[in-house]
Amino acid sequence: MELKDLTIKSFHEGLLNKEFSALEIAQACFKEIKERDPEINAFLSTAEESAVREAEAADLAVAKNEDVPDLAGAPLAIKDNILIKGLPATAASRILEKYVASYDATVIRKLKKEKTVFLGKTNCDEFAMGSSTENSAFKITRNPHDLTRVPGGSSGGSAAAVAAGFALGALGTDTGGSIREPASFCGVVGLKPTYGAVSRSGAIAMASSLDQIGPIAKTVEDAAIIFKAIAGKDPLDATSSGYFDSHKNELLNPPLEKIKSLTVGLPEEFFIGGTDPAVIGAMEEAVNKLKTLGIRFEKVSLPHVKYALSCYYIIMPAEASSNLARFDGVRYGERRIADGGRNLAELYFRTKGEGFGAEVKRRIILGTFVLSSGYYDAYYEKAQKVRALIKNDFDEAFKSVDVLLAPVAPTPAFKIGERTDDPLSMYLADIFTIPVNLAGLPAISVPVSKRGASGLPVGFQLIGKRWREADILGMGTYYEKI
Ligand code: GLN
Repeated sequence: MELKDLTIKSFHEGLLNKEFSALEIAQACFKEIKERDPEINAFLSTAEESAVREAEAADLAVAKNEDVPDLAGAPLAIKDNILIKGLPATAASRILEKYVASYDATVIRKLKKEKTVFLGKTNCDEFAMGSSTENSAFKITRNPHDLTRVPGGSSGGSAAAVAAGFALGALGTDTGGSIREPASFCGVVGLKPTYGAVSRSGAIAMASSLDQIGPIAKTVEDAAIIFKAIAGKDPLDATSSGYFDSHKNELLNPPLEKIKSLTVGLPEEFFIGGTDPAVIGAMEEAVNKLKTLGIRFEKVSLPHVKYALSCYYIIMPAEASSNLARFDGVRYGERRIADGGRNLAELYFRTKGEGFGAEVKRRIILGTFVLSSGYYDAYYEKAQKVRALIKNDFDEAFKSVDVLLAPVAPTPAFKIGERTDDPLSMYLADIFTIPVNLAGLPAISVPVSKRGASGLPVGFQLIGKRWREADILGMGTYYEKI
């Protein structure tokens, strides 16, 4: 079997049947990365030495007939805002250019228990702020389907690494769409878990009430395998939940009868003018295919989601400005003046001025403004109330349906450079994904078909009830079978 056709599932079977070793596959991945990544730029750093050791450990478990977990030896790519001890973690920012992680994120610790292989750290928008990976301080990642286009963002390097066949799966983070939008643009699967399903410990924080780590993979089943491994309660993240510690088995092998019995809602606010015809066509295709399973559809309304983008661009910068305050050249972040400067203000100005890029500065300023006295009530507090209304809309809709279907993004992958001068047009890329983060719900991006009418991949989004990852993963799995 060729590397590009391997899934995590088929890799695991091949490994157990001794068709290949984990080391052979890891080496094949690095060969591909060396040959083709100079053009795609999915990785910021690779970790061949440690990956070889990890692959050998997985092979040893097979040789000794030990327990071989589903992800043993599986080569994964990890977004550079997630910490792996001993490897760089820059979050694609100059301010962390020389930082080497001193501990493992909880998700990494869990994956290490599974004997996973970590190929390296992937490019992203600086501190995960962006929708195209063009805000990286270091390089621009290209979409493997069309090198003149963006891979989406902010987890663009992770999605590109999977789409290019460099890795069998990846981890990304999703605060407003950063797993789902790049998955849609690159023709792969991306899952944003329920808020609290996965520990955020060891993920460099952007907006803590919205951030979630999740998998990017070639198939829905592979995404479920990774999710199953990383979900669960963690004492290091007080917002993490133990729900999946006792509900993991429902995530794999969903019974068809159960999936058929689910009703899908089509929220009218997500099917609006301005959406690219290629995306509208793709949504019709997805709905028609699911109808062949016997699934019922119903129209629903989420009247307040039209405020989601405005609401997000108050709450997210407010939290981000607070989270990024620690990068001051004293506690965190690379100090820019060797002697500390004339005074503390100069140290801060130089460190932050030279260390942060334009988009990060924009959000720090915006966030500081909406939290400042006099504006706090008018902006931040009001946005929190709107957030509650949006969440209520979803709760209401979920009284009559089990799952919602919507586009992931209003367009397929856009051209590199097309939106860099216009932050607002960039922010619009997340209009359909942001409401889900505000409401804390799980959602998955699944490719509609191998390639859409425009020749570019387009994904559709299945949004589930809180903790009902099993519903959206199950429906996605049967969709892929059709
Ligand atoms: N593109 C959105 C933003 O820039 C979402 C980012 C994310 O999910 N990390 O805020």
